[in-house]
Amino acid sequence: MARYGAQFGPDVTFLGVPPCDVTDPGSLAGADVVVVGAPFDGGTSHRPGTRFGPQAIRSTDYLAHDGSRPHLALRTDALRDLDVRDAGDVEMPPGDILSSLAALRDAVAAVSRAGAIPLILGGDHSITYADASGVADHLGQGRVSLVHFDAHADTGDLEFGSLWGHGQPMRRLIESGAVRGDRFLQIGLRGYWPGPETLDWMAGQRMRSFEMTEIVARGLDDVLTEASAIAVDDCDGVFLSVDIDVADPGHAPGTGTPEPGGLTARQLLDAVRRLARDLPVVGMDIVEVSPPYDHADITAALANRVVLEMLSATARRRLDTADDAVGRPRWDPALPLLSGRDPQGPAAGQPG
Ligand code: MN
Ligand code: MN
Repeated sequence: MARYGAQFGPDVTFLGVPPCDVTDPGSLAGADVVVVGAPFDGGTSHRPGTRFGPQAIRSTDYLAHDGSRPHLALRTDALRDLDVRDAGDVEMPPGDILSSLAALRDAVAAVSRAGAIPLILGGDHSITYADASGVADHLGQGRVSLVHFDAHADTGDLEFGSLWGHGQPMRRLIESGAVRGDRFLQIGLRGYWPGPETLDWMAGQRMRSFEMTEIVARGLDDVLTEASAIAVDDCDGVFLSVDIDVADPGHAPGTGTPEPGGLTARQLLDAVRRLARDLPVVGMDIVEVSPPYDHADITAALANRVVLEMLSATARRRLDTADDAVGRPRWDPALPLLSGRDPQGPAAGQPG
């Protein structure tokens, strides 16, 4: 795959993980997770700028970009416990949404075929059509559930006279058969869109959409329990899609369509951690980070940590479900930070 060079897809990798090339299957062999950048904001309806998202998410981190991130709470080093590589950015021609999505879908399908989890950095949310379709190309149409964090349902039909844009990918995924409507879970919806006709369509597809009022009334944990049970029922994997605008604009101002009253950064990280640890995740994306509208890198820093939470929890899941995990104590969220650490030896510095 071509690299943009230093403009949209700088030849730096996510926090220093090794590079790879999706057009070279040999370079994907053995990878657990492959990061793919999708610098595309041609589907945006309001404020643009998410084409600068991938580079901001890759590199907004105050620690050394050394390919290592030991997680204090989860006791994993995702970038070492997992084989994580970065394929750079897909070439997505501005103004040509169909060829852009086709190129991304091919790249994602190549990662999926190689047996790795594609982790796509957006880009506006139109890219999720390509992301989930690319995974379904390998795992089977209708065999992957989708858990979708967003302020918006993104189930519009025609917008601005077009079927393609960041307000419509979820409808296109269901219509195409890539994802079943009754295995489509939406978390964090709120505000004033979409209207009744679209909500009726969603009901007809038997989607399960959790609006913020229900989340507040029942508690986020209860909602995640229900969503997880649906997601793993008669499915071969789960795709996790995080629109950063699910977080309150106070926690994520750098986005195109901010909607007040969302999740806190803490809630979003905890939710992503729980799902990635509990569910068989086969693909993930993080979208709608728009650096030109960001302030003090607040949004880019949160997105970087959402990615690390996905990876760290995926690493934790593999440790806790490994063949030799039987008899070993499983990870416990109530474990104090320093318990079980060796105050004497150098092993105290090792994750585990
Ligand atoms: Mn969205
Ligand atoms: Mn949104």
